[in-house]
Amino acid sequence: MGNFLGYVNPWQKGKWDKKILSDRAYRFNEIVKLPLAEKIRITNDLILIAKKNIDGPLSLACSFGKDSVVMLHLVKKFIPDITIVFNDTGVEYQETMELRDLLIDLWGLNVVELHPKPNNQYFRLMRRYGFPGTVRAKQQGGHTPKCCFYLKEKPMIDYVKENKIKGIFVGLMGSESVNRRSVAIRYGSMHYTVQPWHCYKIWPIIHWTDDDIWEYHDLHDIPRNKAYEKYNINRTGCATCTNFLDWEIVMEKWNPKMYARIKKMMRDFEKEDNALEKWI
Ligand code: SF4
Repeated sequence: MGNFLGYVNPWQKGKWDKKILSDRAYRFNEIVKLPLAEKIRITNDLILIAKKNIDGPLSLACSFGKDSVVMLHLVKKFIPDITIVFNDTGVEYQETMELRDLLIDLWGLNVVELHPKPNNQYFRLMRRYGFPGTVRAKQQGGHTPKCCFYLKEKPMIDYVKENKIKGIFVGLMGSESVNRRSVAIRYGSMHYTVQPWHCYKIWPIIHWTDDDIWEYHDLHDIPRNKAYEKYNINRTGCATCTNFLDWEIVMEKWNPKMYARIKKMMRDFEKEDNALEKWI
C-alpha cells in the first residue's frame, strides 16, 4: 500500500533480497532527482492513500525542525484536524519553541506535547548511559543512542499505544544519512511496523532533499526555525546533542555555560571509567 518503490516486498524467505533492493535503490535515486513539483505530487498521493486506507486515528510527529514543518504543511491540506505530536525533550532550542507557538497560532494546530518520564530526563540519562558519541555511550551497544530511545522514541510509542493510533506521519528523508537511505529503500514510503509500534509509519517526504525543503519554505512562505541560521546548523533536535561532528562549536555558540558544564561532566565520566578499569 502506497509505496512508490514498487509493491514487491524485498524481505523474502527470511532475508533481504539483494536484487529487489538494488532495483529499489535505482528507482529511489531516480525519484530523488525529480523536480520538486513531481515530488510534491508523489507526496500528495501518498497522504491521500494513507488517509483513505488506514482504518483508525492518524497522527503526525513534528519536531518543528525544517523537514517536519514542511511535512505538516503538506499533510494538513488533506487532513486539517490531524493531531500533531511534539516531543519536548526538555533540551530544545528556544527558537524551536517559538516556531511551535507561532505555527499553533498561524495554522490553528492541534498539538499534543509529550515529555520524557522524570527518571529519563536528559542529564539523568547522560549520567546513566553517557553522552551520545562518547566511549561510555558506545559501550551501551545498539545503533540508536539510549537517549534517543528514552527522550524521543519511548514517549511516542507510549502515545501511539495509549491512543490506539493506526498511522503516524514522520518527516524522515533518505538524503539525511546513509542509514536513512538504506531504511527508505528497504521499507519504502509506508509500512506497517509490528513490535512495539503496531501501526503504519508514513514517510511522505522520504524522497526529498534539503534543497527541496528550503525551496518549499520559500514557495509557501513558511516561517523558518531561526536556530538554523543563528547557530549555523542543519539539524535542530536536542540543543545539548553531542552526537554530531561540530557539536562543540555549535554548543559553545548556543550556550557557553551549558557547553562548559557538559565538558566537565564528560571529563568526570572519563575519570570514573578509567578508575573503574584500573580497579577491575
Ligand atoms: S538528538 Fe542527540 S541528545 Fe537528543 S536524543 Fe538524539 S542522540 Fe540524544
